[in-house]
Amino acid sequence: MNDIRNIEKDREFEEQIRPQELGAFSGQEKIVENLSVFIKAAIMRDEALDHVLLHGPPGLGKTTLANIITNELGVTMKVTSGPVLDKPGDLAGLLTNLGEGDVLFIDEIHRLSPIVEEYLYSAMEDYKIDIMLDKGPSARSVQIKLNPFTLIGATTRSGLLTSPLRARFGINCHLQYYDVPTLTGIIRRSASVLGIPIEDPAAGEIARRSRGTPRIANGLLRRVRDFAMVQGSGRIELGITRRALDALDIDTRGLDQMDNRILSTIIHKFNGGPVGLGTVATAVSEDAGTIEEVYEPFLIKEGFLKRTPRGREATPLAYEHLGIALPGGIHR
Ligand code: ADP
Repeated sequence: MNDIRNIEKDREFEEQIRPQELGAFSGQEKIVENLSVFIKAAIMRDEALDHVLLHGPPGLGKTTLANIITNELGVTMKVTSGPVLDKPGDLAGLLTNLGEGDVLFIDEIHRLSPIVEEYLYSAMEDYKIDIMLDKGPSARSVQIKLNPFTLIGATTRSGLLTSPLRARFGINCHLQYYDVPTLTGIIRRSASVLGIPIEDPAAGEIARRSRGTPRIANGLLRRVRDFAMVQGSGRIELGITRRALDALDIDTRGLDQMDNRILSTIIHKFNGGPVGLGTVATAVSEDAGTIEEVYEPFLIKEGFLKRTPRGREATPLAYEHLGIALPGGIHR
């Protein structure tokens, strides 16, 4: 029950600070620039925007972008997710209720069942679907024309998408982890929306410890606010921020438990590597694809991990971060 209440509260909080237009969406400059052109062109031609695939690790802004695209187009969005769409009938209900140019947002689109996915093909391509009427010997299928619409699919695991589905998206956006200055700006914006006074060095410290992820940054801002209210002056400054983040056991470089587990496993069990992805995955009991698409990109970007032709290798920075002495052969 408590969990449900917390999830609700988190959702409310996220809704409150979600940017509503492209201009308020920080970072991902190339994506924003391109989307802005495609949206303007669709409006000028009075056509539905091409289908959009948004992929990247959790919390980087896929749902936010889907909302923004919808707002900028001035249409309505219906939201669903891959695992919820059980049968083609569920999808048909949503599709036939879409108005002209509306957006259908499917989160976790990599988890669509194969029959639902196949059903989506003709809807995406020709705005048509077949519906079965009756059962048994009198069963027949009729074709229904849909209003032109835009499908926005979001996924953390684009590697699991089938190629026929992937090919049906005209616009493909890969969201990247955010750098510290951009995250600092996002934290300052969220603080200002919520009316929380925050000093720049404190925003920078939260940004550095947010794993390049706006959702984590916003979550930490909330927790630090609690500490500032109870143990400080209410104003978020550097001292109370550091104390709060340390009390919460937030890694100084923003790595999460799995990041640290991956690095320490490579170092302790495989002498720092190189070691194959599958072997690491088995050792940390995580799916290899998730490591490759969700964890590794951040570890590589931050310089903790190297991808070599012979496998994954921990860098001297990883040793230093975990407080482990470098073996003789590795030099800085
Ligand atoms: P995803 O769908 O990729 O998991 P969300 O779109 O739900 O991520 O974003 C998570 C949170 O981070 C939201 O509260 C959103 O407001 C915030 N956020 C994400 N990207 C940005 C951004 N570029 N600028 C400002 N806030 C962002």
